Amino acid sequence: MTAMRASLAAVPLSNLEGMGWPAIPTPHSAHMLAIQQQLGQSQWWPRAQLRDWQFRQLRPLFEHAFRTVPFYAAHLASAGYRPGQEIDEEFWRRLPLLTRLDLRKAGAAIRSTDVPRAHGKIAETDTSGSTGTPIKVPKTEAEQLVWSSLALREELWHRRDWHAKVAVIRASGNATTGQHMPNWGSPLAGIFATGPVSAFEIRSDVVRQAEWLRREDPDYLLTFGTNVVFLCEEFRARGWRLPRLREVRTVGEVIEPETRRLCREVWGAGITDIYSCEEAGYLAFQCPEAEGYHVQMEGSLVEVLDESGASCAPGKTGRVVVTTLHNYAMPLLRYELGDVAEVGGPCPCGRGLEVLTRMVGRARDQVRLPNGEKRYAWQSPKKLAEIEPILRYQVAQVALDELEVRLVATRKLTPEEEDAFRRAVVANLGYDFRFRFVYRRDIPRAPGGKYFVFRSELEVPAPG
Ligand SMILES: [Zn+2]
Repeated sequence: MTAMRASLAAVPLSNLEGMGWPAIPTPHSAHMLAIQQQLGQSQWWPRAQLRDWQFRQLRPLFEHAFRTVPFYAAHLASAGYRPGQEIDEEFWRRLPLLTRLDLRKAGAAIRSTDVPRAHGKIAETDTSGSTGTPIKVPKTEAEQLVWSSLALREELWHRRDWHAKVAVIRASGNATTGQHMPNWGSPLAGIFATGPVSAFEIRSDVVRQAEWLRREDPDYLLTFGTNVVFLCEEFRARGWRLPRLREVRTVGEVIEPETRRLCREVWGAGITDIYSCEEAGYLAFQCPEAEGYHVQMEGSLVEVLDESGASCAPGKTGRVVVTTLHNYAMPLLRYELGDVAEVGGPCPCGRGLEVLTRMVGRARDQVRLPNGEKRYAWQSPKKLAEIEPILRYQVAQVALDELEVRLVATRKLTPEEEDAFRRAVVANLGYDFRFRFVYRRDIPRAPGGKYFVFRSELEVPAPG
């Protein structure tokens, strides 16, 4: 029965009354399906062919960046760029890398002054990324269309039952009863019929999240990586189960093998992780047939570079550098993300898309409140991005009622800016902590390469 319903779901929704099949989709759905058909083919292309098309796409993007983005006019000229030239491997290697600090310092000069009208409206996203450096990234509708199409590809790869029930725990949910939506939302809703979604607020006590999740009893769960660990620990301690759960989907943080084992043990379900970042979108999806993540080469050119700047061979680990292929509002050309990844060899599934086997990036500990609550330490990147001098931050819990804010900044924050930071953190963590601001030249990564945006330095006795 499930298989039959799943096959019915593969017919798109029709926009024309009385014409259910074959469907006449809306213009937006038709765009998504047209891109999907191409993605369905390009995933099987040989790697060299995919790379060739990436470089062809870069040519108009570079011209646009050179002509309309003040920062790139100088940056590309210094690399010897001439408008209209081919972008080839040799030129590519000469192009210097960009860091988040470069972007932060460039300010408005990194934005296009003349985005093609046909690329649609521009929306802002805010991100603190992997290294705690807050920046704002404007994105066009055309870029969002590619982003959504890649998300749809991920759904198709993993052959989910779109009629099943999804639980989502993220920021912006309701923290008492949860919210109930009739469908899965973007990218599926509007193109295909789906089942319902229930959403709960991640900025709430982990025990309350667990109680809500148990009541909802979903088929799928979507949340942030480390929140899965916190929830599984609560379920295990209470002997609770999620009998219907088929799959856990994670975003936002690195998934350790230990997290996958814990999830299997407590919920009997596997984790399907998405490697993404706010500024560049979806970077890699787990292969549906093998271990490893496939780079979404149609959306971004992802490089993994060693110390000398050369591409890492399979089995080697290096810095992740991203070039977005379609965001004409704010092109990112060889942008160093702050993550570290290991390169994989050709995938046994036969797809030509590059493979990453392991990523190391942003991480966070759990915050503990004086009343005994434990929470996922969500921080609002939007509020922090508005505080101008901050180049990088880390919030550390040094006592049950005290946080130390470690900043790398262009200058000391004013009392008003410190207050804005304090209010943003208090609103998200749910307790009026005492604050201490300290200024550092650098904030080092933890052993293994993780960058902790929230670090617990409480001396807490081991559970049990
Ligand atoms: Zn594969």
